[in-house]
Amino acid sequence: MKQPLIQLDSIVKNYKTICALNQISCNIYPGVTGLLGPNGAGKSTLIKVLLGLVKVSSGYGTILGYQLGKQGRKIRQLVGYMPEDDCYIPGLTGVEVVRFSATLAGLPKVEALRRSHEILDFCGMQQERYRNIETYSTGMRQKIKFACSIVHDPQLLILDEPTSGLDPEERESLLNRIRVLSRQFGKTVILSTHILPDVQSTCDHVVIISRGQLRISDSLENLSRPASPTITLSVVGDKQVLADALENIGLETTSGDRDELTIEGDLNVISDQIWQAAKTSGCGIRNMTPSINSLEEIFIQAIKESGHADA
Ligand code: ADP
Repeated sequence: MKQPLIQLDSIVKNYKTICALNQISCNIYPGVTGLLGPNGAGKSTLIKVLLGLVKVSSGYGTILGYQLGKQGRKIRQLVGYMPEDDCYIPGLTGVEVVRFSATLAGLPKVEALRRSHEILDFCGMQQERYRNIETYSTGMRQKIKFACSIVHDPQLLILDEPTSGLDPEERESLLNRIRVLSRQFGKTVILSTHILPDVQSTCDHVVIISRGQLRISDSLENLSRPASPTITLSVVGDKQVLADALENIGLETTSGDRDELTIEGDLNVISDQIWQAAKTSGCGIRNMTPSINSLEEIFIQAIKESGHADA
């Protein structure tokens, strides 16, 4: 098991009478973690706690080995943060905005400029980088915010709704950059979003909070694995012959539409038996699709259990 980069133990954050985080205990591991929850769940408060921008009411935590609430400055040096809202100084060009972020993070002037261009290349920003940022489209402004969050090469990236306002192509490019940062450059990423397909396609782990409470913290792989797995085959040939061959070796089958045949069992365990049965029955298999739990069902169930009104 990999070592967690973030450890939270019974974190409570109260805003006067509102309990925004209620006894949150969880670990965040290397990879990409999707932070999910309905509006008002406590996601932004959790991010602010991680960044040391709000003081916890009680509880204990470490982030990259530093203590939450005590070593905030050190933590912010090692973390890249992309806020949901726009935050730039009017009158600067794109590259100047990124360079400013780099100097704030402590990079010397010349290195800050070199690094800004390198990161803007990575973000797919061409000559527009020399234009005033106020003339930018939403997609370009998102790219600049993203560039600002990674220009100082942080170990941990916290991205708050990074794909909001992007068209499908820009969204896919940004998600791809997140995957590259995680898989090729070993960065740990927390992706706070309400777009479940983004989580499904990009994240390794999922944390769901609702009404300030932790509902789920697990790998996407574990969450997607159904309690009673099935496999749906697309059969070439007489599917009844294949069904009989499978039944003969003790597997339960159900005939579906057209060429479909569903078998009860886990693909990792019974795939050899299926291929063998296909061979003996003279059938071909065009597709083998294991059933998975949808993230949407998991999410709705988790917030329903917390008693959230929108579930
Ligand atoms: P999310 O980011 O999931 O939408 P938030 O962390 O913003 O949730 O909010 C969690 C709860 O804390 C909400 O009930 C919200 O109204 C409340 N809250 C957030 N910030 C403040 C604040 N500065 N003062 C008082 N209440 C706040």
